[in-house]
Amino acid sequence: MKTTKRKSPFDIDEKNYKRYDERKHPFCKTAADKKYRYYNRDIEEKMSEILKERKPGYSRMDYALDSAAWTLYETFKLIPEERIRGLGEHESYKSLPKYNVENREKMSKIIKRAASFFGASLTGIAHLDERWVYLYDCDGNKIEIPKEYRYAIVMAIEMDPVALGSSPSVTSATGTALGYSQNTFLVMHLGEFIKSLGHHVIKMVNDTALSIPLAIDAGLGQLGRNGLLITEEYGPRVRICKIFTDLPLKVDHPIDFGVTDFCKKCKECAEACEADAISFDDEPSFETKCSTNNPGVKKWYIDGEKCYDFWYENSMDCATCITVCPFSKIKLNEPEDFWDG
Ligand code: SF4
Ligand code: SF4
Repeated sequence: MKTTKRKSPFDIDEKNYKRYDERKHPFCKTAADKKYRYYNRDIEEKMSEILKERKPGYSRMDYALDSAAWTLYETFKLIPEERIRGLGEHESYKSLPKYNVENREKMSKIIKRAASFFGASLTGIAHLDERWVYLYDCDGNKIEIPKEYRYAIVMAIEMDPVALGSSPSVTSATGTALGYSQNTFLVMHLGEFIKSLGHHVIKMVNDTALSIPLAIDAGLGQLGRNGLLITEEYGPRVRICKIFTDLPLKVDHPIDFGVTDFCKKCKECAEACEADAISFDDEPSFETKCSTNNPGVKKWYIDGEKCYDFWYENSMDCATCITVCPFSKIKLNEPEDFWDG
């Protein structure tokens, strides 16, 4: 398919659109909403029962690998930012003047090269659109990004095709878990690179702002029926992270390689979803599906409540709407294929 640049790919009903309140997200509700049916419950609470069933892809080995793959992500969350000492904080670097960017295009190339060096599969840059910044975080703190953070560097990590191929098994979830830890490594290191040049950063994985519209603005791909970013290179088989910065950069532009038209006919993700959480509608619309949705954008809304119900039933997250997507370009497989190498 031919790829073209386009101005804004979003159809937004400005009267109804509000910045997303992260407290509506199931992960936040499990921690803070006492009325929520999964309040204070662990998604893996049925692990012991499931292990006894001896199902392929749900073994002790799979759960252990999944737990290990989350390590860096979980650790980063536990360490306050001020305790992560980077070169940007080192006294000898602090005494240097701020790096003066004379050529934004060249600076963007350098950032993309550094991101690739630290492990990014894809990197794009956008002007930061405040509409994508959460209004409140999980704890109910209002989020305001100072206006000098004009740029969003958005990066995607390709997730392991063999691990993901056996979704919704635990074996498959290890690929997602590792993607989050790789995202963490990436934002920590690229963030410190920018700080060492005397500029400021806000580093994020899924927190603080909506990753998918930022990635679309940064030219990494388009929105699919499955509610995910579809990239040309890996389809939806990516995990996204981002850095907001005041470092002057040249921005990229949204692209169109025919995803919306393809999704109108394809529907493979909707057919494969065991939770019936993905729309079969021919056209995207403004019609929301559940309380976790943020109204005001024309798209295929996902029923996040049904999806999350399935995750609990499965005792693990699911990636089926990623793996069956033809843009992911992977073969579906059995969990044993992962361990057989
Ligand atoms: S993650 Fe699984 S349950 Fe959720 S929408 Fe995708 S296929 Fe459905
Ligand atoms: S599986 Fe088909 S309908 Fe679903 S996101 Fe991928 S291309 Fe679109």
